[in-house]
Amino acid sequence: MKIAQVIVDVPVMQTNKPYDYLLPDNVEVKKGMRVRVPFGKSDRHVQGFVVGFTENTDQEALKQIAFVEEDRFILNDEMLSLADFLVEETFAFKITCLQLLLPPALKNSYQQVVQINSQQQEVQQFFGKQQQLSVATLKKTKRWKEAQSFIAQGKVKLTYRQQLPQQELVTTIIVAHDATFYQEQLQIIRSTAKKQRRLLTFLSQQSQHASLRLEEVKKAVPCDLPLLKAAEQKNWLQLVQQEQHIMPTWQVDEEPKKLNGEQQAVFDRIVQAGDSAKTFLLEGVTGSGKTEVYLHLIDYICRQGKQALVLVPEIALTPQLVARFTKRFGDDVAVLHSGLTSGQRYHQWRRIQQGQASIVIGTRLAVFAPLTNIGIIIIDEEHETSYKQEENPRYDARDVARWRSRYHQCPLVLASATPSLESRARAYKKRYELLSMTKRAVKGAQLPKVDIIDLRKAAVYSNSLDISQELQQALQQTMARKEQAVLLLNARGFASFMMCRSCGYVVRCPHCDVSLTVHHYPERLCCHYCGYEQALPMSCPSCHQRTMRTFGTGTQKVEEQLQQLLPQARILRLDADTTRQRGSFAAKLETFANGHYDILLGTQMIAKGLDFPNVTLVGVINADTSLNFPDYRASERTFELLTQVAGRAGRGEKRGKVLIQTYNPQHYAIVLAKQQDYEAFFIKEMQMRYQQQYSPYFYTLQVMISHKEEEKAAKASYYFAKRIHKLISPAAIVLGPAPRAVARINCRYYYQIIVKYKEEPLLMQGLQALLLETQQQQARGYYISIDKQPNRFI
Ligand code: ADP
Ligand code: ZN
Repeated sequence: MKIAQVIVDVPVMQTNKPYDYLLPDNVEVKKGMRVRVPFGKSDRHVQGFVVGFTENTDQEALKQIAFVEEDRFILNDEMLSLADFLVEETFAFKITCLQLLLPPALKNSYQQVVQINSQQQEVQQFFGKQQQLSVATLKKTKRWKEAQSFIAQGKVKLTYRQQLPQQELVTTIIVAHDATFYQEQLQIIRSTAKKQRRLLTFLSQQSQHASLRLEEVKKAVPCDLPLLKAAEQKNWLQLVQQEQHIMPTWQVDEEPKKLNGEQQAVFDRIVQAGDSAKTFLLEGVTGSGKTEVYLHLIDYICRQGKQALVLVPEIALTPQLVARFTKRFGDDVAVLHSGLTSGQRYHQWRRIQQGQASIVIGTRLAVFAPLTNIGIIIIDEEHETSYKQEENPRYDARDVARWRSRYHQCPLVLASATPSLESRARAYKKRYELLSMTKRAVKGAQLPKVDIIDLRKAAVYSNSLDISQELQQALQQTMARKEQAVLLLNARGFASFMMCRSCGYVVRCPHCDVSLTVHHYPERLCCHYCGYEQALPMSCPSCHQRTMRTFGTGTQKVEEQLQQLLPQARILRLDADTTRQRGSFAAKLETFANGHYDILLGTQMIAKGLDFPNVTLVGVINADTSLNFPDYRASERTFELLTQVAGRAGRGEKRGKVLIQTYNPQHYAIVLAKQQDYEAFFIKEMQMRYQQQYSPYFYTLQVMISHKEEEKAAKASYYFAKRIHKLISPAAIVLGPAPRAVARINCRYYYQIIVKYKEEPLLMQGLQALLLETQQQQARGYYISIDKQPNRFI
């Protein structure tokens, strides 16, 4: 007898062990298929994945698979083994890992329905003209009881109906005529037809054949769909349903370029590696033409009939890069990232799965793209923290990429101007092959000159708190030369808060141990941990005086100061507040690229990947905020950020200049960023990590335990620590348990244990077992999470 082994989706009784099920009649079941199976006492249907087959079972009273989903969503062998790898890496349950491999739209793509299975009149009546009725609707309309009795009598069958996401269409309006036509119409039409007149006036101001988005038209002139339909009847305009654009429309000049010597050498080396699963670390200074090398490699790989996977830290922040890919490879490109709606993501995923797109570019989740013949994997800006998912399942896309490169026997290219210490150390040990590009690619372009401004001295002379006189002068000179400047406000771990000037009271979150952050437009106080919001208090909640003030430097405040210092400057501010709308970051950047602004002021989001030839000055307003962050990686992050943002200057033929304002001008991260000497920084930082026993000398692992009652969280964490000590050798180091830096978040108390280790053969399995063992507790209000190599410890 053939029996299917199924991993089921039951949140409170998680296990990685499959359950056995009888095969259904008349339907073929394959490994990797999704199924619905009855589970538990109530025989409730749950989702599951068939992971294998067996001949015999020790499970009593076998149940039968209730429903088999379509063939096209089958997980192939690669994906099934990848799920096993993810279970080991992330401590997540297998079902969670399996679900990660399909687009989220598929998770609830099946609706339970009842189907008519009898000619009886009473049943016919119940169904009306339909063949199937949705169970959810029956329950809502209180007809479910009746349906259940039919089911019991076999007159009605319980089954499923698939609902795949529809292609999302947007309505656009095509202007059918020129202005004269509309003016003539205005003469003819009744003067009381006010809405129509306004629409005509609007149309007369547009150019003929213009294609306008419905939402934009609605904003510009009061109209609704009936009015527009009537207008279409009169042949004033056309309404067209179009597929929504998900590729950036950024205009890039993208002609393939002949590779220079350094680029060619890198290209040759990677191509030579051919069909081996070799990992390369491409260390190339900013502007050295890494992207151009990717494009050449992908072109080469595709000609061989293979596929390419490219990961970038954040699509929204790299519109230029994506545009260069789509310009060069057109419809061969699919994009995958979390900014897509679930329908869009599903359609991109299908295009890849059906082989319509052989180049995938996307964020970390794209690493699971259903490509079947990968010839190269490229990870751009490999040092970025966004490759690690900070929530369950806590996978690192770089590790998954390495796994897939081994599976497909294809090269993996990790690229950065400032590689992560871990990757650079592996290259040092020859586990990765180091390739380097030391010069800027554009003829005549040089790395910018970097100067440090000592704020301890500068502050005395300046009439502004944040902008030194030197920086102010440099900005003026840049504007006088009709060139552009980028100003970075390093906002990491630092935000503006509200404090009472009389009594020192700071407004804090009622659920978490943090102060609330001031947001603008609309003006609110927000908690960055739990999302709590409130209005800005007029008077102090503690002493009741009207002396509440905002402290800390936000981008908006700097913008105001800057505008006062340089009244004629055209400033574009980009931060989380001004770019909340989908796609608005790219749109605003484009106006900067087109020369509508003199100064681009923003947070980290402007530091990366942008290529504006007319930017010749980069200013860093405060290098210290990330330096003082309580994290062992603070120096690395600071060096990286300064080098990356400096890399925005002088990318064209004009030489760039960088000014870094700091209170710590002697700190090695800042001095070496000034020299743009990554290799020296690597050596210095490795010494520090060695002394402090941190990564890459030690692996780190964080166990976090939380509960609504502090005592319970503390007790459980001591229990965990005791168990962990039994799993490790004396060479490993355990820190804690200790309350987290922000000990209370969303009314829960957090305790953490940090394990630093080199090689602990028993630790991982022991932790997996411990997690399973404490399932019952987890159901009773404890959260337990285990994070390998966390991005940070706070
Ligand atoms: P990176 O990704 O290393 O920062 P890019 O690939 O964005 O660098 O290249 C920087 C600039 O140099 C771009 O404007 C690009 O068009 C140009 N460039 C790259 N390679 C060449 C080449 N071989 N010849 C001329 N210009 C090049
Ligand atoms: Zn909060």
